Amino acid sequence: MVSGGKLVVGNWKMNSSPAADGALVGQLLRSAGSFGAASAVVCPPFIAIPAVAEMVAGSPIAVGAQNVHWEEKGAFTGEISPSMLRNYSVTYAIVGHSERRALFGETDAAVARRFWAAVGASIVPILCVGESGEERNLGVQNAIVESQLRAVLRAGEAGSPGKFAVAYEPIWAIGTGKSASAADAQAMHRHLRSVVEDVFGEGIAKRTPLLYGGSVSRHGAADLFAEKDIDGALVGGASLVAGEFLAIISAAAN
Ligand code: PEP
Repeated sequence: MVSGGKLVVGNWKMNSSPAADGALVGQLLRSAGSFGAASAVVCPPFIAIPAVAEMVAGSPIAVGAQNVHWEEKGAFTGEISPSMLRNYSVTYAIVGHSERRALFGETDAAVARRFWAAVGASIVPILCVGESGEERNLGVQNAIVESQLRAVLRAGEAGSPGKFAVAYEPIWAIGTGKSASAADAQAMHRHLRSVVEDVFGEGIAKRTPLLYGGSVSRHGAADLFAEKDIDGALVGGASLVAGEFLAIISAAAN
């Protein structure tokens, strides 16, 4: 377990409008005084980041992006650079989400470039890894997830890892309403921590937040957070409903 509080990150995916974002963030802000030691991050679509960043400025809620490019500027249509994000107070960036990998062809190599560009810009990358249902049925989940993690961490062998987080997101659990059990998630998190330790040593492994993602809801959150190596959650659908997201943060705060 990392020292300090748990980290709860909301991935809004491609869901946003000025009215909906204002209502959602307004409700989160009204309860921000009760987050305790838990940290909350919201990751809106790029276009909504400036408005959301303005709303949460000075509050305990931080802003994350759903992706980040590795170059600073230039002919990269549709991409957003680390310094652009920094200009709008973005301090976290999700990289390697399974939807990016499956729908937009992102490879481990591209994910690694995004990850290290974020580190270089003092943005905390949240590296998503996870196996498919078929891979779990075959019993190869540890090998799959380990290879996704090592591909990114190894790519930066020469550099300092800075601060980063890893999100274990089994693909079969994302958006299905079927979360991994707390015991299965804990087993994978322990494995992930051992891989981080192998690459960067015990100190960094101990302070790297390992988040679980995949149908996290107010119902299973407390059981997940009770596990030794589960340091927080990456929340999709439930992060769009203020009451649900707040209930998950509250489970993390206890
Ligand atoms: C996600 O896509 O990162 C995610 C965890 O989604 P959900 O919570 O909806 O399963």
